[in-house]
Amino acid sequence: MRRTKIIATLGPASQDGAVLEAMVRAGVDLVRINAAHGDRDLIERLAHEARAAASRVGRDVGVLLDLAGPKIRIGRFRGGALTLAEGDRLVLDTELGDAPADGGRVGVNYPALPSDVHPGDRLLLDDGQLVLSVTATTATTVDCRVVTGGVLSDHKGLNRQGGGLSALCLTDKDRADIRTAADIGADYVALSFARDADDVREAHRLLDAAGSDAGVIAKIERAEALANVRPLCDIAAGVMVARGDLAVEIGDWELAGAQKRILRTAHETKALVITATQMMESMVHSPVPTRAEVLDVANAVFDGTDAVMLSAESAVGRHPVKAVEAMARVCVGAEQERVTTRSRLRGDERWETVNEAIAMTAVHAASGLGARAIAALTESGTTALLCSRVRTAVPIYALTRNARTRARVTLMRGVVPVDFDPLAVGSDVPREAVRRLLEIGAVKVGDIVVVTRGDREGVAGGTNALRILRAEASRG
Ligand code: PEP
Repeated sequence: MRRTKIIATLGPASQDGAVLEAMVRAGVDLVRINAAHGDRDLIERLAHEARAAASRVGRDVGVLLDLAGPKIRIGRFRGGALTLAEGDRLVLDTELGDAPADGGRVGVNYPALPSDVHPGDRLLLDDGQLVLSVTATTATTVDCRVVTGGVLSDHKGLNRQGGGLSALCLTDKDRADIRTAADIGADYVALSFARDADDVREAHRLLDAAGSDAGVIAKIERAEALANVRPLCDIAAGVMVARGDLAVEIGDWELAGAQKRILRTAHETKALVITATQMMESMVHSPVPTRAEVLDVANAVFDGTDAVMLSAESAVGRHPVKAVEAMARVCVGAEQERVTTRSRLRGDERWETVNEAIAMTAVHAASGLGARAIAALTESGTTALLCSRVRTAVPIYALTRNARTRARVTLMRGVVPVDFDPLAVGSDVPREAVRRLLEIGAVKVGDIVVVTRGDREGVAGGTNALRILRAEASRG
């Protein structure tokens, strides 16, 4: 069993039903639909295709809709691109918008840019491939000198090194896409360029208004968000180490430390955490990852990430299925190491709820007894989430009749969703739960299983009991 979850971004390379099915068989736990590259129709179609593939394979797969956010982009060039050499002048003109430009000038979609930047600031284009230095500003333009040149094509992204551009987090497109998230029943919504807890509160408000209970994942990709990781972890369902934009904003030399700090904070606060971007980038072209990529994925596993994410590799790459296979293989390998199997039980902690006390006790008991499984009878998935916040080698099975809960737990490290209706079985529900684990091959006769449950089956938030059972051969 693999405990670290795999998220695959969908795109032209992975829209086909057969490819999606092969990716799910290879181990995809959640699909990511990037709203930056799609309208409502495409988002709906991808969600539908992914769920259809998952149901053909007989697995629960979650859907994460990644909002485009206020990505600042340049406009267009008359010839589609402009070659810039060191020392050249380039004027960013907020009044040009998307009109094709020439003569060392290009539009930019962010009217506040001239007031947000100052002479000497460094602007990074195309994920840092080209670097500009600001020399002067007017009310509507930013005059720059090229520090690192290259070919600049239409609509490339623009960041300021060090962050600080004040674009609001949720754009009009994001607001419309939140309504789409509700309509497609997205399990998670990722908030691009989140700055602070208020941005997450606003996303929660919009999701509530649209009738969605999707969990919000705050993407840490702005320099400002790095200063707010704890409040973001406290309020959001999870965070994403969005290394693409983050590296551009803070500098690649800061990235490794930032990733480790984000993962540590997520663990302290019980937030879910996703490690994303360029994890197996060479597999866009190559059928095998580089050694450095293998180590990058393994290190994220060692550091306790809930999920690792494929971006271009699965969206536009030549080997989307092989990329999932390689990621799964590396995760399983890393999970054999003692750093990930040794239980990290927190003996001195105060527990906030009865549910947490039961979850923690279940993990302690399971680890101390060498149990084969923790079976969390759960309506909302909370008990499974709480169990998965402690490092343990014991698999956690989230047994629920609620399909949305099963899709939601696909992001939680070590948690396996299992379809089980406590109201449709005999009166000894915990024993029936163990029987279900026997039926799916998760345990063998004689194995110890720690079962958590509530007095009233099928009611969310009521977990208050724990039973320790041995799997028995069926009488019939
Ligand atoms: C990133 O920047 O790393 C990221 C995940 O965001 P996007 O792919 O939307 O740019």
